[in-house]
Amino acid sequence: LSSLLSDPTLVASGSYIDGQWQTSESRFKVTNPLNGDVLIEVSESTNGEDISLIESAIAAAKKAQPDWAKKSSYERYDLMMKWHDLMLEHKDDLATLMTLEQGKPLKESKGEIEYGASYVKWFAEEGKRVYGDTIPSLASHQQIKIIKQPVGVVAAITPWNFPNSMLARKIAPAIAAGNTVVGRPTELTPLSALALAVLAERAGIPKGVINIVVGSDSKAIGKVLTEHPDVDKFSFTGSTKVGQILMKQCASTIKKVSLELGGNAPFIVFADADIDAAVDGAIKAKFRNAGQTCVCVNRFLIEESVHDEFVDKFVEKARQLKVAGGLEEGTDIGPMIHNEAANNIRDMVRTAEKAGAKRVFGELVETNLQAPIVLTNVSNDMEIAQNEIFGPVAAIQSFSSEQQAIDLANDTEYGLAAYFYSLNINRVERVAAGLKYGMVGINEGLISNAAAPFGGVKQSGFGREGSKYGLDDYMNMKYLCYNHG
Ligand code: ADP
Repeated sequence: LSSLLSDPTLVASGSYIDGQWQTSESRFKVTNPLNGDVLIEVSESTNGEDISLIESAIAAAKKAQPDWAKKSSYERYDLMMKWHDLMLEHKDDLATLMTLEQGKPLKESKGEIEYGASYVKWFAEEGKRVYGDTIPSLASHQQIKIIKQPVGVVAAITPWNFPNSMLARKIAPAIAAGNTVVGRPTELTPLSALALAVLAERAGIPKGVINIVVGSDSKAIGKVLTEHPDVDKFSFTGSTKVGQILMKQCASTIKKVSLELGGNAPFIVFADADIDAAVDGAIKAKFRNAGQTCVCVNRFLIEESVHDEFVDKFVEKARQLKVAGGLEEGTDIGPMIHNEAANNIRDMVRTAEKAGAKRVFGELVETNLQAPIVLTNVSNDMEIAQNEIFGPVAAIQSFSSEQQAIDLANDTEYGLAAYFYSLNINRVERVAAGLKYGMVGINEGLISNAAAPFGGVKQSGFGREGSKYGLDDYMNMKYLCYNHG
């Protein structure tokens, strides 16, 4: 593994707690999804009932927080920008590490490192703009002032599909606001997260401000992070199912919670759209990260009169995508995270076919290097239309009126991202207003960036990451009432 990196010291294999790297006898394997090769063994942070390391990470964060909060936002900015610069300086190595443990094409890994770093920069800047407020009082002897303060200790649990940026976009607002953090990446992709800790240490971010705990016992770690009274805020990105469990656990101490959960993104193409632009957007919004993102298109809704044209053009583009190992030059789609995930989507395809869907492109293979599959004749009550596919399968339905398209799009328990294509300005306004989603791409298939508020409604969760709103999730508002006589 180290031989593939120009700076092998970016590879860490134990938790980072209070500025110390922990090792233990008990270890778990990190494997390459492309071939199952073991990349490295990483130290467990729990051992059966023994959760003391996780508790010590929370204690370290608690101890470090007051001094961190006392620093001026300009001092925090300087440290965060050093961290940001180191991420970009080591972009190639960080991307290689990510492709090895996660599978995505190297060009996407590089893009993700830039994307993760952009949140660090954004929030380093935003930290300087935590304004309070003064409010005219009802009583002449009183003054009302509002200040914003860090919540304290933040715990974060993140998934494998974006091993760098999901953590970066939680740690960055947390520390910019003056909090300290205990982060827990999934055991499938711990190396990218640990490399962030290596760089944070090099940047001079004080010990205890960023702690990363790694381990394969997600339940045990999750329980401590959600139930510990010294954790003040809990932030999670992952499935709705696990989000429900964690939210319940947070109820015992009434923690402030942010949840970024599953999605079921519709991609609507109206007959008045620029069909070629829609096809381009569709390919990006469907196949990025082999279809394994929470904002990936899950349901294509195409107006009847342009259905066949869209399908033909979409299949032509999907056919050109290169499916191979992520480090191979020119790869568009790498391996899915593991065989279980790949088998899962193939089962979904078979079930959809039995229910009447028609496979117009693609073969089901046995490995996790799954090339695109395109299904038509899908209906919204099929499993494939109601559950997150999380793989390179495009499931296409057709519709005949604008209202039907909106109703179909909203007919899901999720509400993260939606996309639609139309060049009719009145329709654009109506549909944008009618979609019950937290984010809507209009004639655009790629919508995530640090300046924009990322997050969902309904069972896709709550809270917003990025943007001028993103710090609020990591701060408490305090109202001061002055009696000046
Ligand atoms: P995904 O399908 O994206 O993997 P999950 O919700 O299964 O989504 O996982 C997201 C994160 O939550 C991962 O870090 C995973 O290890 C962790 N996780 C899964 N189950 C639990 C649990 N019961 N308690 C705490 N963390 C969990």
